[in-house]
Amino acid sequence: MQIEDYVKAGKIASEVRETVRVKDWIGKTVYEICEEVENEILKKGAQCAFPVNTSINEIAAHYTAEPNDPITITDSDLVKIDLGVQINGFIADTAVTVCYDPQFDGLVQAAEESLEKAMSMVKVGVKASDIGRAIEATIKQRGFKPIANLSGHSLDKYTIHAGKTIPNIWSIGGFTLSGDSAYACEPFVTTADAGGFVRNGKIKNIFALNSRKKTKNVEADKLLDFIWENFNMLPFALRWITKQWEEKEARELLDHLIKKKAVQAYSILVEIHGQKVAQAEHTFIPNETGALITTISQ
Ligand code: MN
Ligand code: MN
Repeated sequence: MQIEDYVKAGKIASEVRETVRVKDWIGKTVYEICEEVENEILKKGAQCAFPVNTSINEIAAHYTAEPNDPITITDSDLVKIDLGVQINGFIADTAVTVCYDPQFDGLVQAAEESLEKAMSMVKVGVKASDIGRAIEATIKQRGFKPIANLSGHSLDKYTIHAGKTIPNIWSIGGFTLSGDSAYACEPFVTTADAGGFVRNGKIKNIFALNSRKKTKNVEADKLLDFIWENFNMLPFALRWITKQWEEKEARELLDHLIKKKAVQAYSILVEIHGQKVAQAEHTFIPNETGALITTISQ
């Protein structure tokens, strides 16, 4: 584990997240947001670990802008901006919810508070199920509901979901935190009337390499090599390949790679009752007394 690279990535991620938090995004398109935030990461000398997610209202996660995506932020939107920074494959994963309508402040605060509560208890040997229980209790005390089928995760080099999950509800079993791994904790909060679960939506605009096996379509195989060289196994967006390929061709080649199972496409995740969702997220490395929270603001 490369602590220094985790720390560098975390510092950049937290700086960018804090810029995102205070900015007035009303009237901006999701395309403008994604490009601006991603460029900010690159300017600071790091790479994006995944396309910036701008998931609005009942979309809990996994929406990123299409090329020139016209969807525009309004003053009643609740926008989860989730960003990933990587240095040599070591990842910082962090998110903030921006919202300009005070009636949703409670949801945002519940996400932040439950994350703080979780961060106050993490250390080597703590059970993931106890973290989930604390997150759930904090959210419910405020009169809201956690999203039960979204969770935090272990991180590994060039791997965002490395196999272990940190639940947002109390659940049986699970693992205990190790000092040899980095983790992301990410409570998702919705209203008391909500279902408290997400389902897959129709839209898929985040992709990742599945296999490097050639498909025998020369141009598609070129794209396959390009993806591996530039993004490794990490997620990417169509926007990231339309500088090399014209958009229509890029879409066709990508579809071909998906059909051949060389690339997988991720669905957006939508709250089942269409209720608004807030999120907060930090990356941390546990130690004997607590944790190094790599994405905390300095
Ligand atoms: Mn994230
Ligand atoms: Mn995450």
